[in-house]
Amino acid sequence: MIPMVDLKGQYQALKEEIDHGLLQALEATQFILGPNVRAFEEEAAAYLGCAHAVGCASGTDALHLALIAAGIKEGDEVITTPFTFIATAEAILYVGATPVFVDIDPKTFNIDPNQVEAAVTPKTRAIIPVHLFGQPADMGAIQSIAERNGLKIVEDCAQSFGANIGGRQTGSIGDAGAFSFFPSKNLGCYGDGGLVTTQDAKMAEHMRVLRNHGSWKQYHHSELGFNSRLDELQAVILRAKLKRIDQYNDGRRRVAHRYSKALAEMGLTPPHEDGIGKHVYHQYTLLTDQRDPIMAALREQQIGCAVYYPIPLHQQEVFADACQGLSLPVTENVAARCMSLPIFPELEDEKVDQVLDVIRGAL
Ligand SMILES: *Cc1c(COP(=O)(O)O)cnc(C)c1O
Repeated sequence: MIPMVDLKGQYQALKEEIDHGLLQALEATQFILGPNVRAFEEEAAAYLGCAHAVGCASGTDALHLALIAAGIKEGDEVITTPFTFIATAEAILYVGATPVFVDIDPKTFNIDPNQVEAAVTPKTRAIIPVHLFGQPADMGAIQSIAERNGLKIVEDCAQSFGANIGGRQTGSIGDAGAFSFFPSKNLGCYGDGGLVTTQDAKMAEHMRVLRNHGSWKQYHHSELGFNSRLDELQAVILRAKLKRIDQYNDGRRRVAHRYSKALAEMGLTPPHEDGIGKHVYHQYTLLTDQRDPIMAALREQQIGCAVYYPIPLHQQEVFADACQGLSLPVTENVAARCMSLPIFPELEDEKVDQVLDVIRGAL
């Protein structure tokens, strides 16, 4: 049996450090916005090359807080990709804005900058590029479009912790970056958690107020805020794992490159590394016209596999009003042909070879 992701190995390796940190935090009883949250925010900001990092309750909330702080509101349009997890676009609806989905690049599966430019209208206020599956989006092209048109950029970094473009970390390039620490993400905690980054002190201060009931001082509330704080116990776990994030991402790249070499020899289309930035393989996603037989063979051997994402957002019922009659052929083609294989830093080479043998047998 080989699962899509196995979190046990990482916990076993860090058990002493995590257990000790958790016990200390329990003894200290500073459970809300305590010392580990503050320390993690500083350590994450330093790692990411961001002036500010604000912990919050989830990646979804990170996107929501970032959009409010970027001034996005009712009547605005926000351009994003339809080939992503629903949360990217949920956040746009939360602030009352309209998501405008544009097609993706057929090789990287990331938003196609040419399509972004064509979708800009007088109502457009922001772009949300997603660094999908851990591969940085084409930020250079997206930044020029944003500059030419006066748009904000909120990077969805939920799948890209540690991915970078020439050493510039994802989340440090746009006006804000939104990270998720959902357990299976590249940097994951043991529950829900999130982080928003920015280089802008005003936006950072605004997001700190928003995540804590709109409160700039205890019992003084300047605006409608939320209860969206990163948990102190989760911060203990994140501090331990952040120290090893490069090693974890390198482990993912080792697995990915082993898959890619063999799959190319079998005539399948392994994920494309476009050279724009360092891909950290949150998911390993290939394209094939034989998805059903391959997945059936893998399941038969109790090997994990999945389709991320089978239904693009512009075809989801919740966006039916915004997307009537919208056709995005590249996205639809990729959604019909993509499949993802097990990947996590601790996956051994021999397990990777087992997966490859089953695929070879199915073809
Ligand atoms: C996981 C994910 C989110 C949401 O993160 P949560 O912490 O689960 O709220 C947002 N965008 C993308 C692309 C994701 O993969």
